[in-house]
Amino acid sequence: MEEETVQRLKEELTQKTVERKRRSDMLVIYPKWCKACGICYDLCPQGTLDSDDEGKVYIKYPETCTGCRICELHCPDFAILVTGEPRKAPKAPDK
Ligand code: SF4
Ligand code: SF4
Repeated sequence: MEEETVQRLKEELTQKTVERKRRSDMLVIYPKWCKACGICYDLCPQGTLDSDDEGKVYIKYPETCTGCRICELHCPDFAILVTGEPRKAPKAPDK
C-alpha cells in the first residue's frame, strides 16, 4: 500500500475514534456547533473533557463526569449537553 494511502487511512481512523468520544452515558457533544473556545474543558472540575487537533471538545475520561453541568451552562454555543443524572465520580488521572 502506498504511504499516502496508509496516512489517509490513519487519519480517517483517528477521526472515527474521536467521533465516538462525543457521546457517553452522561454527555452529548455537537462538534458542528463547537467553536473550540476551550471554556468547557478549562472549567470542568473533573478533567473529563479535552480538545482534538482542531480544538473541538471530546470526552477523554467518560467515567469521571459527575453531571455537574458547568460545561453545559457555560458553553456559549449550546454544543454540549448533559443527559445523565448527577453522580459521584473520581477525577481524571491528570487532574
Ligand atoms: S464551551 Fe462549547 S464551544 Fe467552547 S469548546 Fe466547549 S463545547 Fe465547544
Ligand atoms: S458535567 Fe461537570 S464533570 Fe461532566 S464534563 Fe461537564 S463540567 Fe465536567
